[in-house]
Amino acid sequence: MTARKPNILFIMSDDHGRQAIGSYGSVINETPNMDRIALGGMRLDNCFCTNSICSPSRATILTGTYSHINGVTAFNAFDGRQVTFPKLLQQAGYQTAVIGKWHLGQGGVSSPSGFDYWNVLPGQGLYHNPEMIEMGRRRIYEGYVTDLITEMSLDWLKNRDRDKPFCLLTHHKCPHRPWEPDEKHARMYEGYDIPEPANFDDDYQHRASAAAAATMRIERDLNATDLKEDPPPGLSYQELKKWKYQQFIKDYLRVVASMDDGIGRILDYLEAEGLDENTIVIYTSDQGFFLGEHGWFDKRFMYEESLCMPFLVRYPPEIEPGTANGNLVLNTDFAPTFLDYAGHPVPAQMQGRSFRPLLGGQVPGDWRTSMYYRYWLHLAHHGVYAHCGVRTERYKLIYYYAQALGTPGAIDDPKPPEWELFDLQSDRAEMHSVYDAPACSTVVDELKVELGRLRKALGDEDTPWSES
Ligand code: CA
Repeated sequence: MTARKPNILFIMSDDHGRQAIGSYGSVINETPNMDRIALGGMRLDNCFCTNSICSPSRATILTGTYSHINGVTAFNAFDGRQVTFPKLLQQAGYQTAVIGKWHLGQGGVSSPSGFDYWNVLPGQGLYHNPEMIEMGRRRIYEGYVTDLITEMSLDWLKNRDRDKPFCLLTHHKCPHRPWEPDEKHARMYEGYDIPEPANFDDDYQHRASAAAAATMRIERDLNATDLKEDPPPGLSYQELKKWKYQQFIKDYLRVVASMDDGIGRILDYLEAEGLDENTIVIYTSDQGFFLGEHGWFDKRFMYEESLCMPFLVRYPPEIEPGTANGNLVLNTDFAPTFLDYAGHPVPAQMQGRSFRPLLGGQVPGDWRTSMYYRYWLHLAHHGVYAHCGVRTERYKLIYYYAQALGTPGAIDDPKPPEWELFDLQSDRAEMHSVYDAPACSTVVDELKVELGRLRKALGDEDTPWSES
């Protein structure tokens, strides 16, 4: 008799920066239930998205391919006729479900496929009394979205076919804006200030023009739809910035707290049912988020807070409790990893690689030492210039090619191309580009070669190249 295939519970949230997770050393909140996953398993310290916005990361996770291959470069609807890991798991005998945020378009080929059950929010979804689409049927559910997604996930687990392994994708809407807490958590953090990050008052000097041009500044760009009350009159510019930060970060952490409670309920269920031993439990987010670093909210940039995805995973048969790994892992790797655990071959078109060995404490000798990133949506939404780049364990080279190049939703207003280089060992906060430092010229040359190699290997070579 062969060993039973592991169940997979993939819990993914939206815009959850790892600075707001206890296991990652948060100084602003506590996440006891997410931490249970980390304490019982492994924390990945260098897990990156390859295009830091919602829909593209989701399409990459499903397909194991970069945006230029799966077609979701920005907000294009997903063509669900592609090969995805849920489809392959379903064909391999898994029961599959997705509950919560989908955000890959709806109707026709964009509706969830490869799932025995699905119930998803249309678009971004609402925090309170959200409409959801259950297997094509729309209805409004009374309640708070995080609790609804938790309860639907529990119901599905309780009613599943117990003779089959399962793969459940629990996709929380939170903590995506507009950060509306539930009643239970609405008064958390009242009466004191959440500490601001060290580079809260970034002046955007010593970097390419993109940082100063971005419209994601807390004091200027957070608006009435995000903040629940008007600022007190007579505040100075700096006082207004501090006031808005407290409003934003407290609501953000409140919605995270609801989710953490819900994760606890699901973990309790797995334990009570004896499912915790044979279930791979993951907590991640579709990308990171600035929580006041550089004076910003939002994501998009290849800078660390946006690039890094939290990734906590527990699977007792193979993962040592309380461990961490620093190898470079990408969201293209998720699908190959799940297929590996399920004993299913990884299709050749998937561009990632299974990191099951890393989770088991083994580092393959030929594991990647660099990663490729591209943000396509030139100037749209928060004014961020289109860019691509390469990150190694120590360095990050960013190339702002700064053009729309026909990307749907991008704005056709080219800016002069620019480069940045960060030494993450000495400048983890990415405050000072050393691209022009004579001492770094060899590193720049080597990283340009590496960026060229990755572009070619991944088949993404349409971005113009400038050496200036
Ligand atoms: Ca997101």
